[in-house]
Amino acid sequence: MNPKKATHQQTKQRNRDLVLKLIMENETTSRAEVARLTTLTRASVSEIVSALIDEGLVEEIGYGDSIGGKAPILLSLVADARYSIGLNLAQDRFVGAVVNLRGEIKEMVEVPVNDRNGEQALQIVYQVLDQLTSCGWKPMVGIGIGTPGLVNTSAGVVVNAVNLDWQDLPLASLLEKRYKLPVSILNDSQAAAIGEYVYGENHPSDSNLIVITVKHGIGSGILINGRLFQGDGGGAGEIGHVVVQEDGTRCRCGKTGCLETIASAKAVVERARLLAGEYPHSMLAQNSRKITLEDVEAAWRKQDPLALRVAGDAARFMGSSIAGLIGVLNIRQIVLMGDMACFGETWLQAVREAVAKYSLARMAEETKLEFGTLDFRAPVLGASAYLLLDNYSLLYTRLTD
Ligand SMILES: [Zn+2]
Repeated sequence: MNPKKATHQQTKQRNRDLVLKLIMENETTSRAEVARLTTLTRASVSEIVSALIDEGLVEEIGYGDSIGGKAPILLSLVADARYSIGLNLAQDRFVGAVVNLRGEIKEMVEVPVNDRNGEQALQIVYQVLDQLTSCGWKPMVGIGIGTPGLVNTSAGVVVNAVNLDWQDLPLASLLEKRYKLPVSILNDSQAAAIGEYVYGENHPSDSNLIVITVKHGIGSGILINGRLFQGDGGGAGEIGHVVVQEDGTRCRCGKTGCLETIASAKAVVERARLLAGEYPHSMLAQNSRKITLEDVEAAWRKQDPLALRVAGDAARFMGSSIAGLIGVLNIRQIVLMGDMACFGETWLQAVREAVAKYSLARMAEETKLEFGTLDFRAPVLGASAYLLLDNYSLLYTRLTD
């Protein structure tokens, strides 16, 4: 290949990606605005925009306000120009959705897992995807999957997912063969982080963000300059299995005292059941074997001593782990999502206090810790968005039907 030509081709593609990214990130924009923000010439922007309109990705939607001279023609992304599928392999149910370019869910399928694993769990993945791919949403550009466990995204392999009993499962290639679509595999907490980054509130383009998901387990996803940072082995953000209490509880990973054995929603419930005997006056003490997360949350709001202890411990250890992340990365925007969010602002405040206690004062002060606004949809949306953010070229297929 002529190297000069290749470079020209690459520049062309890069410029096209740049223009499309800007149009995707804004509700509406204009050619002049795109030219200003990308520093491309008006002529190149016009040429690229024409091509995007031809491909059905962008449309003109009327005129904007004039700032002296001709009123600009407003451009907008065609939300339904392409679709992708996002799938989250959560603990108790697999949830999949057809999503358009604006993150609107068009179709959703949920299948309870009922502790099925190995080949049977793979069959559920097929079941969900068979349904979603046969719904007729076209053009479909790809499938993104968020799965618990350690994932090698570039190889498309689930390295180790304990609950699903998958080791070195080449999930991407299995699904690509079956559905003839590009497939990306991500850790579920990383997928949730992308979902929050792309569709959550107040995350500017190319910014940094850490999203921590607390459910049965605890994981996090790290975005640096708007890109997912996965580390050398794909496990960046896997804070749930860092030991924080040497004499703590045995963890499902085989170690003792991992963060998730004290700060996960599951741990909070289990510890409340276990410690109820020490708190005979707690409102949780009666019927302690049937304590649920909702019970602990209600008790927390009433300042019940047992609830204060178990949820307080969770906040403290979570805060200390977040302090570690802040010390290493100095990322100022941190979002917490998942089951512990039901404990509300007072619990979040307890986490913030622990963060302040365990980090350099100045760095903690500059850090904003908030709850996420997306619910269970975050990993589903994130899995589908990753596919596109990572490879815009998937979008540039001419409509054939
Ligand atoms: Zn562990």
